[in-house]
Amino acid sequence: MTKLVICNWKMNGSVQLVDSFISSLPQSNDSCWNLVIAMPHVFLSYVNSKSPRFKLAAQDCSIYGGFGARTGEISADILASIGVEYIIVGHSERRAHGDDVESVYAKMENAVRCNITPILCVSDDYESQITNRTEELLRRRRDAVILAYEPVSAIGTGVTPSIDDIRETITRLRSRYGVNSIAYGGSVTSDNAQDVMGINGISGALVGGASLKLRELSAILNPREFI
Ligand code: PEP
Repeated sequence: MTKLVICNWKMNGSVQLVDSFISSLPQSNDSCWNLVIAMPHVFLSYVNSKSPRFKLAAQDCSIYGGFGARTGEISADILASIGVEYIIVGHSERRAHGDDVESVYAKMENAVRCNITPILCVSDDYESQITNRTEELLRRRRDAVILAYEPVSAIGTGVTPSIDDIRETITRLRSRYGVNSIAYGGSVTSDNAQDVMGINGISGALVGGASLKLRELSAILNPREFI
């Protein structure tokens, strides 16, 4: 199964950094992964024009759909028009700054309507983050959504759950919500990426801090070259 390595750059980067990534990142050796780049919105078109081999992701989108007088907002429709294939929704850093379950649902629904795959981030309290209608949408679009298990305690801390714990939670999420694609995120580095990506049934990993370091990301993608 081809797994996704989803690079969440958060509020980081520069044109220079984007250029160095495009020119230096290795190609997949054996097509065992697809690289999904969630850079700040302003870099996405640029990346696509320079190197269409990357899959584009947005880190968020507006709760509003379509086009119109919404200063500062970026809709899923606009993101679709530049070739974005994935949108991260409900990241804990956004939930901490005001995204509630209703706005996360609205973003997810807009992504799905625009044929973009939402990557719905949930933490250990996923029962309270997934409302009935979010669950209904997950089940109805089970092949077109990704659920990302991202324990808040692991994000940016270097402290991850054990591989067994991640495996168990992923299995529980799959049987509870029926979603086919489930990824893990939280302090994935070149030290643990092989173990995480090797979890049976996992669809990929979200990589935050480590995805900003070219050597680190290269080692995650092509570990054999770095042994
Ligand atoms: C994230 O914030 O989605 C993430 C995975 O971050 P980090 O890898 O830095 O823990």
